[in-house]
Amino acid sequence: MTSNDFSSARGTPRHDLKSSPAATVSAGPGPGPAPADLLRRLRARGAADPVTHVERVPARAGVPAPWPSWAPAELRTAFTGRGVVAPWQHQAEAANLAYEGTHVVVATGTASGKSLAYQLPALATLLADPRATVLYLAPTKALAADQLRAVAALELEGVRPACYDGDTPRTEREWIRRHSRFVLTNPDMLHHGILPGHAQWSGLLRRLAYVVIDECHTYRGVFGSHVAHVLRRLRRQCARFGATPVFVLASATSGDPATAAGRLTGLPVTAVTEDASPRGGVTFALWEPPLLPPDSGSSSPVPPQATGDGSSPSEPGRATGDGSSRSAPPQATGGHDELRQVRRSALRETADLLADTVAEGVRTLAFVRSRKGAEVVAANARRALDDAVPGLGDRVAAYRGGYLREERRELERALLHGDLLGLASTNALELGVDLVGLDAVLICGYPGTRASLWQQAGRAGRSGQEALAVLVARDDPLDTYLVHHPEAIFGAPVEATVLDPANPYVLAPQLACAAVEAPLTPADLALFGEGAKEAVDELVAAGALRQRPTGWYWRHRERPEVDLRGEGGAPVAVVESSTGRLLGTVDGGSSHFLLHSGAVYLHQGVSYVVDQLDLADGCALVHAEEPDWSTHARDVTDLSVVSVRSYVDAGPVGMFLGEVDVTSQVVSYQRRRIATGEVIDTRPLDLPTRELRTVAVWFTLSPQSLALAGVQPADVPGALHAAEHAAIGLLPLMATCDRWDIGGLSTALHQDTEAPTVFVYDGHPGGAGFAERAYGTAAAWLRATRDAIAECGCETGCPSCVQSPKCGNGNNPLSKPDAIRVLDVVLTNLPG
Ligand SMILES: [Zn+2]
Ligand SMILES: [Zn+2]
Repeated sequence: MTSNDFSSARGTPRHDLKSSPAATVSAGPGPGPAPADLLRRLRARGAADPVTHVERVPARAGVPAPWPSWAPAELRTAFTGRGVVAPWQHQAEAANLAYEGTHVVVATGTASGKSLAYQLPALATLLADPRATVLYLAPTKALAADQLRAVAALELEGVRPACYDGDTPRTEREWIRRHSRFVLTNPDMLHHGILPGHAQWSGLLRRLAYVVIDECHTYRGVFGSHVAHVLRRLRRQCARFGATPVFVLASATSGDPATAAGRLTGLPVTAVTEDASPRGGVTFALWEPPLLPPDSGSSSPVPPQATGDGSSPSEPGRATGDGSSRSAPPQATGGHDELRQVRRSALRETADLLADTVAEGVRTLAFVRSRKGAEVVAANARRALDDAVPGLGDRVAAYRGGYLREERRELERALLHGDLLGLASTNALELGVDLVGLDAVLICGYPGTRASLWQQAGRAGRSGQEALAVLVARDDPLDTYLVHHPEAIFGAPVEATVLDPANPYVLAPQLACAAVEAPLTPADLALFGEGAKEAVDELVAAGALRQRPTGWYWRHRERPEVDLRGEGGAPVAVVESSTGRLLGTVDGGSSHFLLHSGAVYLHQGVSYVVDQLDLADGCALVHAEEPDWSTHARDVTDLSVVSVRSYVDAGPVGMFLGEVDVTSQVVSYQRRRIATGEVIDTRPLDLPTRELRTVAVWFTLSPQSLALAGVQPADVPGALHAAEHAAIGLLPLMATCDRWDIGGLSTALHQDTEAPTVFVYDGHPGGAGFAERAYGTAAAWLRATRDAIAECGCETGCPSCVQSPKCGNGNNPLSKPDAIRVLDVVLTNLPG
């Protein structure tokens, strides 16, 4: 990608940095301009005011608490030596609960010091009982390494903390198993290494006093469901050795953390949510990039229809499907294919804002959803700054995941000292890099959840100083809804973390793993919960387990291959053709979307193009290449209802939750310019169909009710399709998913429901809990959907309301006014 792409399409830059008096500052650490003044200057630069709302998040004074009486002097001294004078109230409260033996989750904001809440009871116990042990789990190796650093720095006698993960040298492993009393690892290692080798770990497991689960909100969806069973397997092994450890969980702020932690561990968990750490005030602005004049919009042609329309011959109605390409988010924002009215892209807007704040000497972090997007933002901010003051561009860098620890430390140092003023990053910074203490945070596009939004915004504000946070809206329904409904951000609780341990596609393989570790007993079935007996029966019927008087035994020689993070089909290996190097694997379910021939595939920030996807061999051959377009696969979908779990009969409207079979086929892909979202072309693909058994929420309406509401029969398909798109776009408001986790299908007459129907389904085998959550909050969810459509300023529908960047039907047909009528019928009839 050349930086020229950025400016060429839209002509002159929006403003001239040279006019900024601060453009020549050689800023080091020091107070920047007050956030309110900075915001006033930023918003005054365009013709129209892009700010839709300013929220003032007040400063908060910290509430300190005394050290718990049980904390030994040695431990207090060690903490005091590291600058911790006294715990904050929430830290002390959680620590006390854990020390008393209560399972506890502390769910408070970024940088609120959650680690002290588990370090205190865990380390106090290790000091008091020289045989006790602690197991710490982090979602990433980087985070575990950081935590090891923190614990080791306390220099406590006899604790011997150590990381045990895929990088641990063989020569050190035995020493760790025998001698470490504070083992830091991750769920994958627990699953693949520690639990299968439990005999070697009996010393640790037998005396396990605490299990610490850090960043537990990251265990959501199918991955979270797997981790939930890995923890049950851990509890089972501990119980065999007579140990009943206390679980201490740390979470970002999230809705109902006690329930989520309870589902994760299978135990009753008490939540501590009152954040008593001090915080500087934040001026939080919601920013909507301006609409571009019609003639300056991207002149992309309407793409050809991807295929027919996904309707099978048995369907008289027109079914429009929107497959869930779950791991295939757009690699840059954009996606406004065929509309005339477009907004300035969030990437451009963020790059300009980053250049502006850096020119003001303000230390700024820009969060961008994709690595490529982060690089685009950094490159263009650099260029704008260099145009103003040659050399100033060097103060801006891009960051992406996969960096070595030394590189991350260097970055932290450069920002701390002011050598770097601006950083554009993916969300990788949410984990593993300590960058608290910035003056401003720009968030390019809603990160998907309020929980993530607050985590990112929480990076702003050093040492209690005032800070600025700006959410720059992308051109899609959810972002647009949010910048016009600040109450949905600032007045709403953060989302609940959703996971579903009863998913049979997770439960069965996990029970198989458990059976290898020790034969399953009837008592174990209660531990693994709802659906466990059925799953065991199926494993017996499939010949994987054999029932004997003493329990169910694993029959095979090899262990079952179960990947916690992948799902759906055997993984596909990504191989570089020229070197034969294995770059990584992609789960089978996503491979059609991500690894079709011609696909641009990103790995550790390096761009590759797929030459060939060989499904028979389970590999994709790729070569390194960095084109300035991204690729977007399209699919066609059919769906049949397997069973209904629950329903609401609301007169002409029915609301259902149940199992469905989804058949889909990736049939083509679009190439789009990264900087502008402009569609270059659509290319056909020849891939086989795939089946997905999953969970769906759906609603039906009687044709009469639609006619009464003024929806003409010919407009019903467009009405339902538009409602479906917007509903998928708004579901992340209710659950910790994003629209890429979810698929949809709408039809004017479905063969199973025999009525006009909109389906929204989990894009994961067996479901991930998202559709279930949608069903449980149906009225609120569809109310927000209706309002988002009705309040959008466009005439016939745009990406901000009813168009979808991943539509399997080229966003056709769509009827915006009729979608509102459809949702009004549903909301009028559906109880509260
Ligand atoms: Zn619109
Ligand atoms: Zn669609």
